Amino acid sequence: MVKKYKSVREFVAEIKAESVDPFDVLEKAVRECETVNPAHEPFITLRSSEDVIRDAEQIFSGSWKNLEVPFLPVTVKDNICTKGIRTTAGSKILENYVPFFDATAVRLLKNEGAIIIGKSATDEFGFGTFCTNCAFCTPKNPHDPKRVCGGSSGGAACITALATFPHVALAESTGGSISCPSSFCGVVGFTPTYGVVSRYGLIDYANSLDKIGLMGKSVDDVAFVFPLIAKKDPKDSTSVGLENWENAIPKPGIRNMKFAIPKECLDAIKDEKVLNVFHEFVTELESEGAKIISVSLPLITEALAAYYIIATAEASTNLAKFCGMRYGYSENPEGKHYDEYFSEIRSKAFGEEAKRRILLGTFARMAGYRDAFYLRAMKVRTLVIKTFKKILKDADFILYPTMPVRPPEIQSVKDMKPSEIYAMDVLTVPPNLAGLPHISIPTGKVVNLPVGVQIIGDHFDDMKVLKASNEIEKMFSNDPVIRL
Ligand code: GLN
Repeated sequence: MVKKYKSVREFVAEIKAESVDPFDVLEKAVRECETVNPAHEPFITLRSSEDVIRDAEQIFSGSWKNLEVPFLPVTVKDNICTKGIRTTAGSKILENYVPFFDATAVRLLKNEGAIIIGKSATDEFGFGTFCTNCAFCTPKNPHDPKRVCGGSSGGAACITALATFPHVALAESTGGSISCPSSFCGVVGFTPTYGVVSRYGLIDYANSLDKIGLMGKSVDDVAFVFPLIAKKDPKDSTSVGLENWENAIPKPGIRNMKFAIPKECLDAIKDEKVLNVFHEFVTELESEGAKIISVSLPLITEALAAYYIIATAEASTNLAKFCGMRYGYSENPEGKHYDEYFSEIRSKAFGEEAKRRILLGTFARMAGYRDAFYLRAMKVRTLVIKTFKKILKDADFILYPTMPVRPPEIQSVKDMKPSEIYAMDVLTVPPNLAGLPHISIPTGKVVNLPVGVQIIGDHFDDMKVLKASNEIEKMFSNDPVIRL
């Protein structure tokens, strides 16, 4: 089924020209979400149309024509805090947590008139590759509901693919959580350079790796909204924003682009059919005049191991604050020693994967093991960054398929070992570990299942990545469509 949809840019123009009724669009968007949610489960929390309309009325009472995205329906991954809207991070331990503040990225979008319609499903605290570790629901792939949406931002990708209304999703990636589900659901997912978007109000998974980014149906939707959130924030000391990006955009035209394809990344792909789609895509790029070179990116398996050490070490300290006393799940602690109460609450309210990561991370940080694991992992990280930088000196972008497989069936994930699941991140982890901007765009299908490619740029070349992807997208269609 191919349906034309309205881009964010078109929507904003129509709203400002007053040729569409924003309240009507929002009411329909909420109704549509209510219709798809029972079968596909993209949402942990879906807002009522009364709440959505109330927010819209507030925008309407101001000078909304000066705003960048007035009345644009947005969804927010549920590990990003939203004032007055329940934010669970996919965990039972935060089941009833309602933040009293907005994350900076949310605040920036709301300031420009965006309206939050729901909180999208995530693996618990972002721990997962298939969004099957969420305490509340398991999003089902829009292209085949027996299959996963990918993770951890599975809900965001699911609703981005399903929505027929104008929409972008605020999502987050630590080691691939934007790229992976975007590829599996056939949407565009952009992960900015580390630090470009403030992490203030994000429920941390691993502070040195977490990045807030966007998903949309087209590169243009993402590129239109991205500058609104790419701002330096005094509330996040690691935030740098994106300055003077207008000057950094290269001359358009695929003919001016040079792509490096690392052979190790292709060797890591076990699914022949994914490789075929990729090769067809590269042939098309070449025929449009792009330069393609083959390079070596060794250490991708080492990068994966280093990532799991660093990510779990940071996660294990971040989760220490969830003790059943300050927020979220709690019980009557009377008569119990603190340690006993703390352990009981955490045993009950953390899922299996969260517990596994606490154990792994705590072990890696232990005094006797610190040098052997954590410091070694940091060295690998530096090497990976150096290798990427060297390749990007000679090429504009690095290019390879986003995931080594097509989306697996939900049932089959249940039989996979944790190490098998972690191995699925081999292609998405390297750019995340290096903090490089990258995008996953849909490039083809194997039967009914989408296949995405990943385009990686140098630090702070965020707009260059978006610009190039926009050109590439046009190779496939001038008319953005919903491909379901
Ligand atoms: N699958 C990876 C992990 O479980 C990445 C998840 C993420 O980016 N949040 O750590």
